[in-house]
Amino acid sequence: MDHILVVVTIATVIIVALFSKLKRERIKANGIRGWVVDNDLSGNGDRIYRNYEHRISGKPDVLERGRFIEYKSAAVSGNAKKGDLMQVAALMVATGVDEAALQYDNKTFNLSRESSLMRPHVTEVKKLSPVMLQHIKKRRPPRGNPYPKKCGKCEFRARCLDAT
Ligand code: SF4
Repeated sequence: MDHILVVVTIATVIIVALFSKLKRERIKANGIRGWVVDNDLSGNGDRIYRNYEHRISGKPDVLERGRFIEYKSAAVSGNAKKGDLMQVAALMVATGVDEAALQYDNKTFNLSRESSLMRPHVTEVKKLSPVMLQHIKKRRPPRGNPYPKKCGKCEFRARCLDAT
C-alpha cells in the first residue's frame, strides 16, 4: 500500500512539473513577459477599450500591465507592415498603453508610442478618426485602395464600388 502511495506521489510531482514547464515554454513562445491583465486570444474578450476623445476602440490580443501584444499569423521580411503599425497605434490610443509588442511568426517588434516610428502612426490614427466618423454619419464607405490581387480575396468585394 505504501508502495502505491509513493509511486502515485512521484507520478503526480512529475506531471505537475511537466505541466508547469509546458506553461512556462508557452508563455515564453508567446512573448508574454509580465502579469496578464486581459486577453482576447479566442476572440471572446469581454472588455473593449475606448478612447472617447478620439472615438477609437479596440481589444489587444494580450494586455499586460503597461504593455500589450498583438500577434500576426504570418512572417514578415524586413520591417513591420504599415497596416499592422496603424493597428498598434490605434490600440495605443484606445487602451492608453504606451508600449507594445507586434509579434509575427518569425520576429517581434517592440514598439513605443513616443518612438520616431510610432509617433507618426499615432498622429495619423487620430486624424483618421473624425474622417471615419463622417463616413459613418453619411453612411458612405471611404474609397477603397483597389488592386486585383487584394480585391480578389476581399470579403467586401461584392459590395465594394471600387473593386477591380
Ligand atoms: S474590394 Fe474594395 S474594400 Fe476590398 S480590397 Fe478591393 S477596393 Fe478594398
